Amino acid sequence: MPNQFEGQVAIVTGGGTGLGKAMALNLARNGAKVVIASRKLENLNPAKEEIAKVTKAEQVIACQTDVRDPEQVQNLINQTKEKFGRIDILINNAAGNFAVPSEKLTPNGWKAVVEIVLNGTWFCSSIAGQEMIKQGSGCILNIIATYAWTGAPGVVHSASAKAGVLAMTRTLAAEWGHYGIRVNAFAPGAMVTEAASKNLLFDTEKAQEQVRKKIPLGRVTSVEEMAELAAFLCSPKAAFITGDVMTADGGNWLGRGFMDLMEHASG
Ligand code: NAP
Repeated sequence: MPNQFEGQVAIVTGGGTGLGKAMALNLARNGAKVVIASRKLENLNPAKEEIAKVTKAEQVIACQTDVRDPEQVQNLINQTKEKFGRIDILINNAAGNFAVPSEKLTPNGWKAVVEIVLNGTWFCSSIAGQEMIKQGSGCILNIIATYAWTGAPGVVHSASAKAGVLAMTRTLAAEWGHYGIRVNAFAPGAMVTEAASKNLLFDTEKAQEQVRKKIPLGRVTSVEEMAELAAFLCSPKAAFITGDVMTADGGNWLGRGFMDLMEHASG
């Protein structure tokens, strides 16, 4: 719905690339003032220019932020307040991931992912939450993955961190509902973003084909398709949804049960 976010201010962490950029673009196109935040200006600056093309240049800012550092997160919140006066939507999308067998995961590898995903989501939520509590309204959307509840061999760090974020989502939803703050999680399905390819998640056509085969709907998704659903969860249409997780993965997490065995048996 055009202009449904008119007058609202949204922060998207990791908003310079992949899904984060698509969500920031979508919110801006529908009227929101947008703040994109991540570590690298080489990601943020081109994304800011792209977003400015679908809205007005003064409706978007980029704020260099490492979400692992609470002082930098406080700066992000201060900059947002100074420029736009309020914070209506926080999307915790920043993440890092790489595939590795658990027995080969180093302490630093574990920390790298858990600190971005779990600590970063907490720092952003708790600091932005202070402002939302003062306002008496707000919406926090945490981007997770279905392996937050299924687990996932090969990404124990990310699965553990996303599971923590899911628990945080439900906890804050219950605590902050009476302040008018909604907190939800969104678990997108397999998206062939540059990051997913680079981190050996679906780096080859063969790997992508294997992923597709396991998805009941038979396809992967796009960041644009996922951004529409994320926008719905942040919109007034979702005003009675809190503490929930929306999954959009083509049925992937349900698994194939006995299908492979039956197909094998029938040749
Ligand atoms: P992506 O492009 O790598 O997005 C991650 C973003 O996080 C980047 O923009 C990165 O920017 C930012 N970031 C990393 N460390 C940060 C830090 N310390 N502080 C601030 N920002 C940081 O990956 P994506 O594929 O779009 O994934 C987006 C979200 O969807 C993630 O939460 C991911 O777990 C989730 N997801 C993805 C898939 C998939 O198939 N791709 C499936 C399920 C869930 P900088 O490098 O500039 O900091």
